Amino acid sequence: MTGVRNLILVLGDQLTPAVSSLSAADPSRDRVLMAELHDEATYVRHHKKKIAFLFSAMRHFAEDLRARGWSVDYVRLGAAENRPSFTEPLADAVAEHRPERIVVTEAGEWRVSEMIRSWRDIFGLPVDILPDDRFLCSHGEFALWAAGRKQLRMEYFYRDMRRRTGLLMEGDQPAGGTWNFDSENRKPADPSLFMPRPIGCPPDAITEEVLALVEARFGDHFGDLLPFGLAVTRADAEASFAAFVDEALPKFGDFQDAMLRGEPFLYHSVIAQYLNCGLLDPLRACRQVEVAYRAGKVPLNAAEGFIRQIIGWREYVRGIYWLKMPGYERSNFFSHARALPEFYWTAETDMACVRAAVTQTKELAYAHHIQRLMVTGNFAMLAGIDPYALHEWYLSVYADAYEWVELPNTVGMSQFADGGLLASKPYAASGAYINRMSNYCGSCHYDVKQRTGERACPFNALYWDFINRNRAKIGGNPRMAQMVRTYDKFAADERRRIAESAAAFLARL
Ligand SMILES: Cc1cc2nc3c(=O)[nH]c(=O)nc-3n(C[C@H](O)[C@H](O)[C@H](O)COP(=O)(O)OP(=O)(O)OC[C@H]3O[C@@H](n4cnc5c(N)ncnc54)[C@H](O)[C@@H]3O)c2cc1C
Ligand code: SF4
Repeated sequence: MTGVRNLILVLGDQLTPAVSSLSAADPSRDRVLMAELHDEATYVRHHKKKIAFLFSAMRHFAEDLRARGWSVDYVRLGAAENRPSFTEPLADAVAEHRPERIVVTEAGEWRVSEMIRSWRDIFGLPVDILPDDRFLCSHGEFALWAAGRKQLRMEYFYRDMRRRTGLLMEGDQPAGGTWNFDSENRKPADPSLFMPRPIGCPPDAITEEVLALVEARFGDHFGDLLPFGLAVTRADAEASFAAFVDEALPKFGDFQDAMLRGEPFLYHSVIAQYLNCGLLDPLRACRQVEVAYRAGKVPLNAAEGFIRQIIGWREYVRGIYWLKMPGYERSNFFSHARALPEFYWTAETDMACVRAAVTQTKELAYAHHIQRLMVTGNFAMLAGIDPYALHEWYLSVYADAYEWVELPNTVGMSQFADGGLLASKPYAASGAYINRMSNYCGSCHYDVKQRTGERACPFNALYWDFINRNRAKIGGNPRMAQMVRTYDKFAADERRRIAESAAAFLARL
């Protein structure tokens, strides 16, 4: 057989026909390699639904590429029994096709990126690593933006991205005269509101086969495999996003921070898993939202809030990840070392808010941002859980979890473990915040109004204990100094009760 020109490796989160490795190639002379890998499914023990989603999306994508005229070598998990990582199937393909070079779009994660860098020596072939232009800001551009700044703040990065993309701009001014409508986006939701549900996509034959494989091979991983209704093709992911824009986006802003019993999605888009593996294009999604706003179908606070999450937060956390890796994953500003409580896996806890977040995580591989940040994340920080253990949990349990986006959100935003590189203050809150933004507390075993004692909401004593034990580290932050002063005004007896309640609760964990 004559050698092919380029062997193009397409990774599991590069399911985009226009990804840079494919757009630079020629179907008549180049060959694509895709592989389902045991190592990738198990380097943390991913949620069963997440593995099934990705393997099925990969198989559908390979079919799509073949239909577009590509020659695709697709290595299924069953066939790769003893070939757990990227390097082995690549070695087989190099031996078989004798390519002139290997081409790959840069990996999303540091770990894989290091592996790719080793291939030139292993295979004695040129390896072209192309930038991932599905992101709007390259590593170099982010590094340039960050250079020389005393503080990295998402808001300023976001404004640059608005100017650069022209999204929601009127000339050089932001639409509506304001960059950020977050202050309008903190309404608690009422169960009587109509909550649209993301559209469900029943499994086809390919997905059914993958579901059986995942049950057989990863049956002991966390999470419910069935029912399975995620989109696994670009067309279905786009239909799901279009339904969100029509039905939920108009209220996305208002209720962005709300939480409700029995309503896992509220007005969220549930598209992160599609964006992160390449089934949806982030800029295109933002342009669709802008069109809906300009057509008068969506208020500005919703359109701006949504677009900020994508061209602001999503790009910003990726920038931080590549700026700070390796090493960022071991950040531990508060020196927290407590093991992750078992109820993060079982949902067996009397705390109704944590139980709801973990239960839906188990069922859906999904929880929305405020549940991740202000319930499971907040609890972990207040209780002094080891941020690395928490990072591994978030990375395994969500269908949208990839280290480049999960790690800065966990270590930086939710745990303040980077000492304030990413967030301007710790997202620490007592039960009062959860009570204001949800209806969990009404049905909880604990009393959100009590600060100490057996039936007091654990978030309360833990919050004040956190403030007190970290006063030296957070007291210099003007937004936290006020809380330290409030703590100091408590009577000595109350301070003692707080310490005892927190210690007693932690001892029972
Ligand atoms: C501790 C913690 C861990 C997280 N881990 C992940 C993760 O592994 N993968 C992931 O994609 N997001 C992660 N996030 C961010 C956010 O919670 C999810 O993107 C969001 O909940 C996904 O649901 P959605 O698609 O319904 O989002 P929506 O609320 O509808 O938001 C729309 C989109 O904006 C983007 N977005 C929103 N907030 C963020 C953010 N803080 N960082 C990056 N992108 C954002 C996502 O692409 C999301 O799909 C994490 C947040 C926290 C606090
Ligand atoms: S009372 Fe406390 S533990 Fe219970 S739901 Fe409210 S915030 Fe959560």
